[in-house]
Amino acid sequence: MGSVKDYFSSLGSGLVSLIKGMQVTGKEFVTPKITERYPEDRDHMHVSPRFRAILRLKYDAEGNHKCIACGICERNCPNGTISLTTKMVDTADGKKKRKLDKYSYDLGSCTFCQLCVSSCPQDALEFNNDFEQAVFTREKLVKKLNYLPEKEEPAPSPEELARIQAEREAKIAAAKAAAEAKKAAAAQAKAIDQAEEKAGEKPAEDLPNAE
Ligand code: SF4
Ligand code: SF4
Repeated sequence: MGSVKDYFSSLGSGLVSLIKGMQVTGKEFVTPKITERYPEDRDHMHVSPRFRAILRLKYDAEGNHKCIACGICERNCPNGTISLTTKMVDTADGKKKRKLDKYSYDLGSCTFCQLCVSSCPQDALEFNNDFEQAVFTREKLVKKLNYLPEKEEPAPSPEELARIQAEREAKIAAAKAAAEAKKAAAAQAKAIDQAEEKAGEKPAEDLPNAE
């Protein structure tokens, strides 16, 4: 008797399970399909904006990027994917400044960890979601990210030139004043020594002991 009861009980739970499964199937049957037909439907592809496809330098509308060639991204990259070459240029105020010469990025060894982007102090880097990066040779995966010509140092404005000149003159005047003060202090010390010697207040210097 017990086995008949078990039989109908398990039959009932099987039917409930079947009905639930058919409900899910029926729901999916009427849900609109989202299959991407790539590459035929390339224009309507939906790629998440946060998808990390390739690293790039951010350029503004005037063609400037914000990289200051500090090398932090290069040092933080765990794979040696980034390699920078830099150059020194002279600025208007006669100082030296390091500038980016070539920003090299090897897509083939990048693991898209984004350490370079998050550690950049200038917010100069980003990933874009252009996923079509297939090429036939590995060499082509090495990209130069500063693809526009590097701009020359901007010429200083007349106000800036005047400020630089004023700073230079102030520095020269301060150096002259310091030298004069040093000279005056030395002359004063010498005069005091001479006066003390004259007055006999200064003790005679020790003569070397003769054996
Ligand atoms: S991209 Fe950023 S971290 Fe890398 S060198 Fe340029 S400024 Fe420095
Ligand atoms: S995402 Fe990671 S592996 Fe790729 S370049 Fe940046 S730091 Fe290197």
